[in-house]
Amino acid sequence: MFYNSTRNSNVKVNSAEAITQGISVDGGLFVPESIPQLTLDEIKAIADMTYADRAAYIFAKYLTDFTEAEIHHCTDNAYSTKNFENDSIAEIAHLFDGTYMLELWHGPTCAFKDMALQILPYFLTTSAKKIKLDKKIVILVATSGDTGKAALEGFKDVEGTSILVFYPEDGVSPMQKRQMKTQEGSNVGVCAIKGNFDDCQNGVKAIFTNDEVKKVLDDNGMIFSSANSINWGRLVPQVVYYISAYAELVKDNEIKLGEKINIVVPTGNFGNILAAYYAKHMGIPVNKLICASNINNVLTDFINTGVYDRNRNFYTTVSPSMDILISSNLERLLYLMTDRNDSLIRDWFGKLASEGKYEVSDDVKAKLKDEFSAGFCDDDQTKSTIHSIFDKYSYTCDTHTAVAVKVYKDYKETTGDNTKTVIASTASPYKFSVAVLEALEGKNSDIDEYDKVSRIAELSNIPVPAALADLKNKPERFNDVIDKANQKDYVLKTLGI
Ligand SMILES: *Cc1c(COP(=O)(O)O)cnc(C)c1O
Repeated sequence: MFYNSTRNSNVKVNSAEAITQGISVDGGLFVPESIPQLTLDEIKAIADMTYADRAAYIFAKYLTDFTEAEIHHCTDNAYSTKNFENDSIAEIAHLFDGTYMLELWHGPTCAFKDMALQILPYFLTTSAKKIKLDKKIVILVATSGDTGKAALEGFKDVEGTSILVFYPEDGVSPMQKRQMKTQEGSNVGVCAIKGNFDDCQNGVKAIFTNDEVKKVLDDNGMIFSSANSINWGRLVPQVVYYISAYAELVKDNEIKLGEKINIVVPTGNFGNILAAYYAKHMGIPVNKLICASNINNVLTDFINTGVYDRNRNFYTTVSPSMDILISSNLERLLYLMTDRNDSLIRDWFGKLASEGKYEVSDDVKAKLKDEFSAGFCDDDQTKSTIHSIFDKYSYTCDTHTAVAVKVYKDYKETTGDNTKTVIASTASPYKFSVAVLEALEGKNSDIDEYDKVSRIAELSNIPVPAALADLKNKPERFNDVIDKANQKDYVLKTLGI
């Protein structure tokens, strides 16, 4: 299997190269040259494997330059009870008839990002060894909150790497901020940016593709890579849990082998839902992929009209990991939907950079309508959804997952579609305890963050994850706040070059 760039189909690298480079030199994203197929028999067989073995089975189709032993080295280290709360890794909770919550937050940082970021460091160090890369790998991360912490936990003290995370100063939850400021490890750095997530992400992308900076790094025996979902090594682990969930539902007799399901994903950078798209095109039977947004609803408009327009207000919401106006992974979807037309992609994403807007062709609009449905909701609706789900089903969900539940409810009401449905549950409710408690109690209380956590524990009966309970007593290590214009200098200074 080789990988092409979305902005130059002639680029052809193997997976080890795609993973170490992170992003192609032309600014495009790496995409496998074909989508490997899974038969229904294979899906059935997967159901009898452990999560780590399911993952290894699927990775073998994508990472064909890895040996079986190398793949197992990665999966066995990442997907064990050493890192996850239980050995199902991705747990399925039954919410109500025919609706399943795929809980992806039982890892060390309590958000779905762990599913990929626990394995990415193994992919990356294995890839570097394979291509005989004799350099220190510098991971730069732009985060809207969850990626940063998950990447820090994944990479902390991993030999031959160092990691630097940028987050928007006022764009993350208090718990997320504390998680990052207190990060341990000798190879880690964290810095706040005066700006929003898109500023952080644009800054990181610009540093990645800056030849001058790359040369300075090279002269000092270093090379950049990315832990954001622009890295293929982030995306492919996310394909696994959709296939795994389907197999699990078949095994539990909840669905019949071959029966179609809907998948609902609370979406920001379009990585998680793109993984669901890959799972579908590999062979799991899917009716609709439902893209749920908060009031930063650029994707809802795009899927419904084919016009992507980021020229709009940016809102900070109670679901901060979805406060994004530029969804990077959409580029991969459009590359596939245009039958890998790199010149169209260059044209559209050039327009996005210069005018903040592009419109896709009619055939792509038709494909979007066929495969996706999209909706959004505001903060009040998010909170009232948390409240009503708790009332009705004694189930406590976080703000991001609540957006998905609400959008799904609307979808079901308007379409009457009764297809069984998997909702990606992307974070522990404790991670967004301020908004979650306000939703549960129907009022804001002025007790401190940690008392809120205890209060949610009393109400929900979900044990507080150890990683969050410990935070209270940890010292803050990282308090830098910089202007977005200084991001490049900050990186060089931190690396001591
Ligand atoms: C990152 C994140 C999302 C958005 O996922 P994308 O892959 O960026 O679309 C949703 N919910 C939570 C809790 C997240 O951390």
